[in-house]
Amino acid sequence: MEESLILKGLRNILVERLKEKGIKDANVLNAIAKVQRHLFIPKGFEKQAYEDRPFSIAGGQTISQPFTVAIQTELLQMQRFDKILEIGTGSGYQAVILAEMGANVHTIERLQELYLGARRIFRQLGYSINSYWGDGYEGKESFAPFKKILITAAIPQIPQKLLDQLAVGGRLVAPVGEGNTQVMTIIDRISENEFNTSRYNDLFRFVPMLKGTF
Ligand code: SAH
Repeated sequence: MEESLILKGLRNILVERLKEKGIKDANVLNAIAKVQRHLFIPKGFEKQAYEDRPFSIAGGQTISQPFTVAIQTELLQMQRFDKILEIGTGSGYQAVILAEMGANVHTIERLQELYLGARRIFRQLGYSINSYWGDGYEGKESFAPFKKILITAAIPQIPQKLLDQLAVGGRLVAPVGEGNTQVMTIIDRISENEFNTSRYNDLFRFVPMLKGTF
């Protein structure tokens, strides 16, 4: 069988696995069925790309496991045309999933090597994603407010600057924790000064969110 058909088959199996694990949002599942995750991880691991597990990428970083991408995206309750700020572009896979769902994606990465790699793949695949080399702790003031903010690195607490850049009626999703596991935390901005916090009851393990660019 042709390689690309085999990989398509593996993607469909992955989608079934994610459904079994509780992912319900059809738009999330469709995006995962479509986006070729193997293009975002090192060459030679095309088949393993569709196992539900994380992978090492450049700069000592990781592309999150598909379940983590799926649950974060589902928790965001993405709507078409939502303006979203992603912090931690990494491989670019999560950003492409969001773009595939029709979001207006802005994404920040602190490691120049990963920023450049992600830009290359966005262009190659034809996605118009706004990507920046910068420190996510600063957010992206010039494009605020964002309907959604997604943090894909572990953070001890949510910086005020990011809360300020969240639209009223908007939602932020982030893995929050001091140790080596984090709790997926959801913050809804109810009004100018009111925020409502809830949690998803699984533990996650993300690479840490670090200050400054490199
Ligand atoms: N969303 C990524 C997974 C990212 S792993 C994907 O789909 O592949 C977390 C990423 O956050 C790493 O690439 C890391 O370099 C980046 N990161 C860590 N601290 C950051 C910061 N302060 N600002 C921007 N990116 C940061």
